[in-house]
Amino acid sequence: MINPTQYVRPIIRAMSGYTPGEQPRDADIIKLNTNENPYPPSLHALESMVRIVQSERLKKYPDPLGTEFRETAAKLYGVDPDGILIGNGSDDVLTILTRTFVPEGGTVVSPTPSYLLYKTLADIQGAKFETVPFTPDWELPTPWPKRDAHLTFVANPNSPTGTVVSLAALECLARELNGPLVIDEAYADFAATNAIALTKLPNVIVTRTLSKSYSFAGLRFGLGIASPELVREFYKVKDSYNCDMLSLVGAKAALEDQKYFRETLERILRTRSRMQRELPTLGFDVLPSQANFVWATRKDRPVKPIFEELKRRNIFVRYMNYPEFGDGLRISVGTDWEIGQLLDELKKII
Ligand SMILES: *Cc1c(COP(=O)(O)O)cnc(C)c1O
Repeated sequence: MINPTQYVRPIIRAMSGYTPGEQPRDADIIKLNTNENPYPPSLHALESMVRIVQSERLKKYPDPLGTEFRETAAKLYGVDPDGILIGNGSDDVLTILTRTFVPEGGTVVSPTPSYLLYKTLADIQGAKFETVPFTPDWELPTPWPKRDAHLTFVANPNSPTGTVVSLAALECLARELNGPLVIDEAYADFAATNAIALTKLPNVIVTRTLSKSYSFAGLRFGLGIASPELVREFYKVKDSYNCDMLSLVGAKAALEDQKYFRETLERILRTRSRMQRELPTLGFDVLPSQANFVWATRKDRPVKPIFEELKRRNIFVRYMNYPEFGDGLRISVGTDWEIGQLLDELKKII
C-alpha cells in the first residue's frame, strides 16, 4: 500500500503546522483567547454588505485590485493608493510577502518571543527561521545581529507581550538591514504610535488587519503598505481574487466609519487600563500593553493550572509557553462586564 503522504514535499511532512487559538462553539463562553474585538462591526459596514447580498453582484468576480478599498485606505493612512496591498486577512498578506522575498533555503528572522506564524511561513517556503531575543526591557538589540535575512518580521505592538519598540528603533533597524523589514501592525490601532511614515524607506512594509480593531476577524481582511514599486511585485504573487466582494465592500465602509471605530477603541482602552490596574492586585505581573490584550505572568506559582481552572469556568484565555522565555497568560481585552467576570473568577481561584 502506497502511503499517500510520500508525494508531499519533505519540508511539509516534517512541519508540525501552526496551531491557532481554540474557537469554541459554545455561546456561553467568555472568549478572551484570540484578541477578537468584543464589540460588533460598524453598522455602516454591515449595511453595505447587505446591499451587495441583495443585489445580483455576487455572481460576478470582485475587483482583483480592490481599487475602491485602496482609495479609502490611502486617504485614511495618508499614502499612495498604489502603495496598498489587499489581503484575505493580514496572514494572507504575510504569506504573499514571504513568497515574494524568500527563496527556498533562504532565511527569515524575527525577534522572540513573538507571533509563531512567522516560523510556519518560513517552513512552508523551505527557508530557515532564526530568532533574536528582545532585550530584558523589550527593546531590539543594537547592533542587530542578523542583518542579511531575506525577510525580517517585527510585530509592533508585539504579541504575546503587548510591548512596543520606538519608531526610532524601527528606523535604525530598517537602515541596518540588507533585506526587507515587515512591521506587523496588527495591533497598532491600540497603540500610541505607528510606523506608516517608515514605508517611505525602500525596504519597509507595514501590515494591518481589520480583524482586531475593526471587529472583522470572521470576515478576513488585511492590508500591506509599502512603496508602489514593491506593491506591484506583490500583486504578481497574490491570488487574483484573494479578497471577495463582501469583504472589500465591508472593509471600505468600516474604515469610513471612524466615529464608531473611535468609540469602541476608547472603550477597549479604558477596559485595558482596568486590567493593568487590577491584575497586579491578584498577584500577576502585567507588562504595559499597547495592544488589545495583556500578558500576565506570576512568580509565586505556575499559571497553567490557572488557565485550566478558568477554562473549566467557561473563561478562555491563551496559555503560551516559549522555551527560551517562559510561560504566561495572554488575556484579550473583552467588554467591561467580561473582564469583571474574569477578575471575580480569578479572585476565587487564587
Ligand atoms: C492576529 C494577528 C495577525 C493576523 O490577523 P488576520 O488579519 O486575522 O489574519 C497578524 N499578526 C499578528 C501579530 C496577529 O496577532
